[in-house]
Amino acid sequence: MKICRVRYGTVVRYGELRDGSVALFPAHWQIGDPIDPAHMTDDVPVEDAEFLVPVEPSKIVCVGRNYAKHAEELNNPLPEEPLLFLKAPSALITEGEPIRIPAQSEQVEHEGELAFVIGRMCWSVGPNENPLSYVFGYLPANDVTARDLQRKDVQFTRAKSFDSFCPVGRTIQTDASVSDVRVTTTVNGELRQEGRTSEMIFDIGYLIRYISEQMTLNAGDLVLTGTPAGVSRILEGDVCVVDIEGIGRLSNPVTTIETSF
Ligand code: ZN
Repeated sequence: MKICRVRYGTVVRYGELRDGSVALFPAHWQIGDPIDPAHMTDDVPVEDAEFLVPVEPSKIVCVGRNYAKHAEELNNPLPEEPLLFLKAPSALITEGEPIRIPAQSEQVEHEGELAFVIGRMCWSVGPNENPLSYVFGYLPANDVTARDLQRKDVQFTRAKSFDSFCPVGRTIQTDASVSDVRVTTTVNGELRQEGRTSEMIFDIGYLIRYISEQMTLNAGDLVLTGTPAGVSRILEGDVCVVDIEGIGRLSNPVTTIETSF
């Protein structure tokens, strides 16, 4: 099932993307609620729907250096435990919206990543629980990073959280196996990043257990699982595409903005 969130006229609703149409869910529906086909009444043609970011997370948790070759390319040691950082939810954009390069940075880079959405609240997931039972679904994401500011600040907050620095796909794929799928990023059609999720140092189950030891994960929270090798600079006029096999494709143009800093 492909879950989306659309604006149709004056209403904003979650729904299921089908062939050429969106079946709207009830107004009160939130990620993690049961999906009842009997309540999916309105069928909206895709061309009349404006696709919004399909998730409204309380936080975006990211994992750094989760692919060995990416840690190597940035001259970082392999982590002994997951390296976590947060990205501001205000950075979210979706398919087709521009990544806006701030004047403060000379080196904004793409990081194509598999992301997952939490389907129900969890804290300290125990050894007898299946951590994957907390996953609602998967989507492609781009952990856009101002690499120069990341180095300068040491803390990742500014470098990772400019508005538009978290593009995600317009649908969440709820039924998929992602233990070994291809992750690629192209810029203007040229392949820049390539990896497989089986190369992750810490897999999704491990990440859910680990993150939930530090913080409660709420339904709708978003987790980005790390990027394969091949990160590179993006410039105004580029088109950056993240493709996750069996999950979806995310395309964003790149533009610049002026700021006073
Ligand atoms: Zn990343």
